[in-house]
Amino acid sequence: MPQVKSEGIILKAIDWKENSRIVTFFTDNFGRQTIIDRGGRSMKSKRGRLLTFSRVEIEYFKSEKSGTGYLTEVELLEAFSLEKEGTLGRLTFASAAIELLYDLLADDDPQPELYYLTIQFLRFTDTVARESLLPLFLAYFIKAMSFLGYRPNFSGCVGCGRAREETALTGANGKEGQFYFFTPERGGLVCPSCQMMGEYYIKLQSERLDRIYALQTASLAEAGTVRMNMSEGEEILELLTAFLKYQTEAKELNSLKFLEKLRKAQI
Ligand SMILES: [Zn+2]
Repeated sequence: MPQVKSEGIILKAIDWKENSRIVTFFTDNFGRQTIIDRGGRSMKSKRGRLLTFSRVEIEYFKSEKSGTGYLTEVELLEAFSLEKEGTLGRLTFASAAIELLYDLLADDDPQPELYYLTIQFLRFTDTVARESLLPLFLAYFIKAMSFLGYRPNFSGCVGCGRAREETALTGANGKEGQFYFFTPERGGLVCPSCQMMGEYYIKLQSERLDRIYALQTASLAEAGTVRMNMSEGEEILELLTAFLKYQTEAKELNSLKFLEKLRKAQI
C-alpha cells in the first residue's frame, strides 16, 4: 500500500531505538493504526510536532511486506489544552477516554462515528463547567462502549425481553420505592423470574436508572450541562466499569485500572 492520508488522535507513543517512536493513532478512516515515527524524537525532525490530546493530519506509507506504517507528514489541526481551572480534572477524564480507546479499538477497523464522538468529547472536556465533567464522561463512556459492541440494556429484561416497568421490584416496607437489578454479566436489567442463583447483581434505584438512561440517550452537548453529585456519578461509573469488566473478560484492560483510580480520586 502506498501513501495514506488520515486524520487522527494519538492514543499512545512509545520511545523506540535511535530517536524514533512507535505511535498508536485512532484515525478517522482506518481505526487504530500503529505507525513508526522515525527520528521523531530528534530536535532536527522537520515534521510537525506530535502532541497528545490534539487532532492531527498525518501521512504515512505502509510497507506491503510487513504491514508496518511509517510516518511522513504531520500537521496539527486542533489542540485541546484541558487547562481551564487547572489541568488535573480535565486531563484525567480525557486520559481515561484515550486509555479506553487504546484498549478496545481494533487495528484496521474503521470507527468514524466513534472518532467524531471522541473529538466532540475532547472539545467539551476542554470547555464545560467543572461540575459537568463527570456526567459528560459517563455519557461518552456509555456511547463509546455501544459503538464497540458493548451496549448495556437499560430498557428491559435481558432474559425474557419484558419492558423495564415490568422488571421493577418494590421495597419490602414500601418506603424504598421501586428498584431494579442489573446484571453486568448478561449486560442489562433482569426481572425477578429471570434471576439466576449465584449471579451478581447491582441494585439500582428508579431515579438512578432514569439518570443512566438519560445519559445514554443525551447528546454530549446535553450531558455537558448536567450537574451530578459525586456519589451518584461514582455509582454509575462503578456499574459501567463492572459491566465492561464482565463483557471483556478475556482481555487485560489497563483502562479499567484507570477507571478505578478515577473513581477513587473523588474529582
Ligand atoms: Zn425476564
